[in-house]
Amino acid sequence: MLRRKKNKARKAKKQLTLLAIVVALSVGLITLIILNQSFDRKGFEVANNRKTDVKTVKKIKEEATTKKKESSTNGEQSAVNIEESVPSVDDIPKTVNEVTSEPPGEYAPWRTKRNDGRKVAYLTFDDGPSVNTASILQILDENKIKATFFIIGQNAERNADLVKREAADGHTIGNHTYSHEISYRESPQNFMKDVDRCNVVLRNILGDTYNSKLMRFPGGSFGHRLDPFKAEVTRNGYTYVDWNDETGDAEAYNPTVPVLMNNLRRYTGAESVVILMHDAAAKKNTVQALPQVIQYLKDNGYSFDVI
Ligand SMILES: [Zn+2]
Repeated sequence: MLRRKKNKARKAKKQLTLLAIVVALSVGLITLIILNQSFDRKGFEVANNRKTDVKTVKKIKEEATTKKKESSTNGEQSAVNIEESVPSVDDIPKTVNEVTSEPPGEYAPWRTKRNDGRKVAYLTFDDGPSVNTASILQILDENKIKATFFIIGQNAERNADLVKREAADGHTIGNHTYSHEISYRESPQNFMKDVDRCNVVLRNILGDTYNSKLMRFPGGSFGHRLDPFKAEVTRNGYTYVDWNDETGDAEAYNPTVPVLMNNLRRYTGAESVVILMHDAAAKKNTVQALPQVIQYLKDNGYSFDVI
């Protein structure tokens, strides 16, 4: 009898402990869910704010593009044959290049987990403008895609109209130094002068409203030997961007389209891809491959954005 009672008491105790564990687990789970939801909301808000900013700028850019089309005049033709008229500085959106609100220093979009559930491709073209710029712009326009151009200052001086057109079309203009010659024996201060000189050229072409501090190192910023140079550009307020994807069009003089596409397929995968291509006279196949590059990215669920 006593034994049975004891057993009963033990059983009840066991049940109580079990109940306590279940309650504790439930409370823990609920707390986790609540915390997670508030975190998601915060993340979403950040993503949403950025989206709104980009949207606003895009809208302004679209309006400017429409305005440009309306106020078409027969501007002077550059050495490269441009079918459309050359936009004037007035046509360039006032907020051009304010899309990049990233703080000075390295910006690597692929290192940040996206909160918007998108896969985004950032097409970037270095070294222009060139004889290929007009063709690149036409393909981008046909696909309603905005890209980012990292401009060499001395090429910009020779093709100012193309730089204006890139900006008027709503693309982002970045600084790729004036001379594209980076000698690591030189001082970071001298390198900075080359960056600033490109900035002056871009401001002369695009107007004082060009206040972007977006730049890309010739050859990228990879490796520690560039640390003093990276520190210098950061100190001067510049945001620099490398890439995590490329067609490899700089690996040979003018790689064939299948080679470019193979490279792209090999490197594309991250939810944010910054794709390096070149806007340079020799790179005819980059232009040839561009529609396929765009199609491939679309087929793989990417939408496009500017840096
Ligand atoms: Zn370059």
